[in-house]
Amino acid sequence: MFLFKRDKFFSLKDMNILSVENLTKTYRSGNRELTVLDKVNFEVEQGKTLSIVGPSGSGKTTLLGLCAGLDVASSGSVRMDGKPLENMNEDQRAGIRNQLVGFIFQNFQLLQTLTALENVMVPLELKKRKDAKEKAKELLEKVGLGDRLTHYPNQLSGGEQQRVSIARAFANEPKILFADEPTGNLDTETGEMVENLIFNLNEEQGTTLILVTHDLELAARTHHSLHIKGGKIQEAING
Ligand code: ADP
Repeated sequence: MFLFKRDKFFSLKDMNILSVENLTKTYRSGNRELTVLDKVNFEVEQGKTLSIVGPSGSGKTTLLGLCAGLDVASSGSVRMDGKPLENMNEDQRAGIRNQLVGFIFQNFQLLQTLTALENVMVPLELKKRKDAKEKAKELLEKVGLGDRLTHYPNQLSGGEQQRVSIARAFANEPKILFADEPTGNLDTETGEMVENLIFNLNEEQGTTLILVTHDLELAARTHHSLHIKGGKIQEAING
């Protein structure tokens, strides 16, 4: 059940993987305060996909970072899997991220001194998995990079680097995957491949997907869309 009312999605509370309430973020510059997000409200059910769209500077990346527990709000609440992030310290937020979250960024954010295989092994080793190497290899094969295991990021194309970052995000077996302009730096064909990998994860494993995008065709593939402008939700669309 997923109901839409004004700028809120309402759904059965215990089914929500993410609940955002009155989320506000202000930055101080000199003696001026800049409100980048202004009392944002929405909820996402486990297994659904949500896109966040809006003009540059509207607060999309800030919103994604707060939802993922990478940053803390000035006021308001983010509950992930029922747990309020604002009550946690940095270590506790890192813990919940390791446990539940995968990330894909526009600029890939791979560790440059590690090979493709070693990059994907990082989250597996954090979870102390004995089969880290085999599992990482399997994931890279899944994204079509079985022949690039020992390549360093600077020896890979943009599309290949993004597929390594997807394999790394999948390694976490996330309940929720955050993606910030995942196809933004890729040509159309590679972008489509990356897009399909992400949506397959949602379809095959029920991973919740929250993605920021400029691409309205990509946004149209998600169950729900939030249109944000000047830090406020302008429109929420159920697909
Ligand atoms: P979008 O992702 O929609 O392009 P952002 O969330 O990146 O927007 O940024 C929203 C606004 O917040 C912009 O005006 C940006 O300049 C400002 N902003 C982002 N991060 C900071 C920061 N650390 N300090 C001050 N202002 C910031």
